[in-house]
Amino acid sequence: MTVRRSLGTPALRNLDPFLMLDHFSSDNPDEYIAGFPDHPHRGFITFTYMLDGHMEHRDSMGNRGDLKAGGVQWMKAASGVIHSEMPQQTNGLMRGFQLWINLPAREKMSAPAYQEFSAAAIPEGVSDGARVRVLAGEFNATRGVIDDPATDVHYLDVALEADAHFSLPLGDTHTAFIYVFEGSARLAGENLATHALAVLGSGDTVAIQAGAVGARLILVAGRPIGEPVVQHGPFVMNTRTEIEQAFADYQAGHLVQARATMTGT
Ligand code: MN
Repeated sequence: MTVRRSLGTPALRNLDPFLMLDHFSSDNPDEYIAGFPDHPHRGFITFTYMLDGHMEHRDSMGNRGDLKAGGVQWMKAASGVIHSEMPQQTNGLMRGFQLWINLPAREKMSAPAYQEFSAAAIPEGVSDGARVRVLAGEFNATRGVIDDPATDVHYLDVALEADAHFSLPLGDTHTAFIYVFEGSARLAGENLATHALAVLGSGDTVAIQAGAVGARLILVAGRPIGEPVVQHGPFVMNTRTEIEQAFADYQAGHLVQARATMTGT
């Protein structure tokens, strides 16, 4: 699988509350067919947005879901989830994003929860030359489907026509970034090519202009947590002791401690 990691790299280690952004894209089944068999998570949220393809999700509690083109899954792993993410296609394009969002200490050992929505359930907003899929948060009074209470995540998929202008007021309380995944765009005098990530300054309006072939980008914002982050592989806690506990629980078969709640379509 071709995976472009633009957050969670040494160059951009922490963008509180975000831990990692992976953009996966491949039309070669040899690269994606192995998928991601059973593996654990504790202490954070995975936010998966499928652009193309079909992935089946299963966890050790018996929950099952299909992630298809245009669909979204918000999984609060919190106290512990063991799950698999496996391709349900033997050819064609597999493309999307997985964003890891941290949880505050008070939420890390809470019960897991899912919010899953298919493409048809995701509302769209429009402005001049722009079509905006609202996954989470709000755009022009259109409310997204995912509710993320701990860090108030906003997640927009913005498609811009050639040379179109797009602007959105951003408060100074949230960390925000854009990631261009098709075409190119200009932001504050800087040219952003395909696969460029730009962290936005706080306190003003983000103003983007699409390039000559248009642009498609995600705009993501969330409220910082401001706590220590100790990450080891699939576990993200506040202290090293809590990480050691996570490994011990996993090895003893006690990682999954509470049943997950489910909402969605
Ligand atoms: Mn996973």
